Amino acid sequence: MQTTTEITLPIDADRLIAELTTLSQFTDAEPSPDGTAVTRVVFTADDLRARAWLKGLAQAESFAVREDAVGNTFFRWAGSQPDLPAVATGSHIDAIPHAGMYDGTVGVLGGLEAMRALKRSGFQPRRSIELVLLTSEEPTRFGIGCLGSRLMSGTLDPTRADGLIDATEKKLAEVRTAAGFTGTLESARLAPCHYHAWVELHIEQGPLLEREGLPIGIVTGIAAPAGYRFTIEGFGGHAGALLMPDRKDALCAAAELILSIERHTLATGAIDTVATVGTCDVHPGAVNSVPSRVILQLDIRDTDPTRRESVMQAVRADIAELQTRRKVKISETLVNADEPAMCSPHIVELIDQVCREHGLTAKRMVSRAYHDSLFMARLAPIAMIFIPCRGGVSHRPDEFAKPEDISLGTSVLASALGKLAVE
Ligand SMILES: [Zn+2]
Repeated sequence: MQTTTEITLPIDADRLIAELTTLSQFTDAEPSPDGTAVTRVVFTADDLRARAWLKGLAQAESFAVREDAVGNTFFRWAGSQPDLPAVATGSHIDAIPHAGMYDGTVGVLGGLEAMRALKRSGFQPRRSIELVLLTSEEPTRFGIGCLGSRLMSGTLDPTRADGLIDATEKKLAEVRTAAGFTGTLESARLAPCHYHAWVELHIEQGPLLEREGLPIGIVTGIAAPAGYRFTIEGFGGHAGALLMPDRKDALCAAAELILSIERHTLATGAIDTVATVGTCDVHPGAVNSVPSRVILQLDIRDTDPTRRESVMQAVRADIAELQTRRKVKISETLVNADEPAMCSPHIVELIDQVCREHGLTAKRMVSRAYHDSLFMARLAPIAMIFIPCRGGVSHRPDEFAKPEDISLGTSVLASALGKLAVE
């Protein structure tokens, strides 16, 4: 088992954990017996208080603060050659209702502590180092995740973004302005190559590192989800009177479609191809009525978009056959399709080298959850550092990462940022 004794950059773990605990107190959640419950939805009072507190921490280090029109916040430690593209790290502080205290926050406060550790060591960066707090990684309020990084990378149309509404029908334009973030959303967009490199520290949100007893994961690629909606139209009727040979049962067709999706996903033989039909709305939804219409929602993810599409092509061939055989009509709607991101082999190797220097064995792995890094990849070469979390649990109050793992991840991040900042 590795120890922390070889770590060259001293991380103030006590302070970092205390700050994570303080941040967890900016919450709307009722206390939970299971752990620290956090609800921090973008642009609510708690989110704004947390942002103000973070700005104070960064200003105490004399980092320059900039905010853009959607609330992405940049804390910059100027390098000796400040005109060179900066090295950046960061994550999010928003939390879905009744979530935990480590998702995203480890990357923000860990990033801050990594910069402080470099500073304390007397390190002088050539490139500026920037910590970025990204707005609304979670889709809770406006229905779309990674709002800040999508706008920064030009992945989301600014006019469409401003028109997004929350549950109370308030538009993003109105809500962000009230929160003090003004100006056009176009202005949030950064040029490609704006950053020299981007590295995000995050809890794994999966069980692999803990299971294998490894303290660090290096992400080599981020799978991207595509979402589809299938509407299956059949013919309804009385469950007793409509004879079996005459039926066009939409739910029976839906059942075959779900199994087709599973079969073709498994047939890729790729562990990185995953597909889930997570909802099934049956009309009219009565026990004595033959289903006339069914709506299914599919989430399909892969690190290889061609493979993801090949599954969909095979499913479509089955749909054609299914429509004829079962005399139903099946329509497909694309809800969203993001491109997966591959991490920079150079940064992945650099982080691996840092781990070896720390006496650590790192696991190279794919991120099946998506993160802001998926969109930051359009602005810079990226990589991610994962640390274990207990039982792979996330988005729950009992989400937990060990202080020593947080500290180790922060130390690896600090060393990686240091190396990248002198390139
Ligand atoms: Zn996250």
